[in-house]
Amino acid sequence: MKKVYFDNAATTPMDPEVIEAIIPIMKENFGNPSSVHTFGRESRAIIEKARKQVANYIGASPAEIFFTSGGTEADNMILKCAVNDLGVNHIITSPLEHHAVLHTAEFLQQNGVKISYVDIDEKGYVVKESLEKLLDDNQNDTILVSLMHANNEIGNLISLKDYGKLIKSKGAYFHSDTVQTMGHYLFNLENLNIDFLTCSAHKFHGPKGIGFLYVNSDIKISPMITGGAQERNMRAGTENIIGIVGLTKAMEIAYRDLEEHQNYVQGIKSYMIEQLEQNIPGVSFNGDPKGKSLYTVLNVHFPPTDIAEMFLYNLDIEGIAASGGSACSSGTNVGSHVLRTLGVDQTVPNIRFSFSKFNTKDEVDYTINVLKELYAVNA
Ligand code: PLP
Repeated sequence: MKKVYFDNAATTPMDPEVIEAIIPIMKENFGNPSSVHTFGRESRAIIEKARKQVANYIGASPAEIFFTSGGTEADNMILKCAVNDLGVNHIITSPLEHHAVLHTAEFLQQNGVKISYVDIDEKGYVVKESLEKLLDDNQNDTILVSLMHANNEIGNLISLKDYGKLIKSKGAYFHSDTVQTMGHYLFNLENLNIDFLTCSAHKFHGPKGIGFLYVNSDIKISPMITGGAQERNMRAGTENIIGIVGLTKAMEIAYRDLEEHQNYVQGIKSYMIEQLEQNIPGVSFNGDPKGKSLYTVLNVHFPPTDIAEMFLYNLDIEGIAASGGSACSSGTNVGSHVLRTLGVDQTVPNIRFSFSKFNTKDEVDYTINVLKELYAVNA
């Protein structure tokens, strides 16, 4: 059976070059990086070289990079440490954030932290004026603004440069969840007023369970996980050297081939939009896929059908993997907080197709044919 993987915002397949890079590490570099003997020192050297490379790719300094188990941990750490260590008593965020941010903010709210939400317009963009007003109205608070660079469900982007400038001018801290954009866009942190960024390797063909947190060197926070001196006392636990090497290789490939991949994947997305519009009457899109939109993500609002609840399952039977609702709860049928906020009718199928460099236009054609058949039989 044909297999089409259109769920790359949930996770991506590992790049064969990444697999090649980590095999020798698994075979030879098993030494604990904290050990003082040669085995340990070799592992330590590999990790520090990786940190330098990662910092280099995003215009940061190695001292600003802390490896974590991924995006969720990094997001948790920023919000919790901002409250504990920086005196943040007010978090301004958006109702469309990933649960790694939203649930952490809700947890902190139970402990007395004030939480405010920016307004969102009908296309899913942050209303910048509402952020400005919240910042102006709460000048006596110590504020962390947490706004994702690209939304993982609908793909809407914000300009980190514009938001960084505004937030800095109001004296607040700025965190951006860049889990969906790191490895997909260029970052130069020398030119951005950003305090914290988060990254997860499995979103750009690296391994799962590894990511990093960028903390601007002007800021001092304490560890969230304690019990060891790893990551310069900032994150206890024996380092995931295999993951760190895999993440670094995935970043190297991503930034080496960035323009080519951007154009290629955007081509697949544009083709899918065009084919859907031509072949599925009544189709529309959530978010603004032809506007400021992440090139990997397309969230499709399908016309009513008898098999709405079984739509993903029907695609899966035909070998097509996509998701509905939130990336991390794909297949759980719980509805999406993002689409709910936008007032999208969730009784019809809303399917996120997300693409990578390993997809082809033939796969789009195959998917369109399956969709046409589903609608011919069940409309
Ligand atoms: N933030 C965003 C925007 C995401 O899309 C995800 C994963 O879906 C995460 C955070 C969590 O990252 P991880 O899977 O590395 O914990």
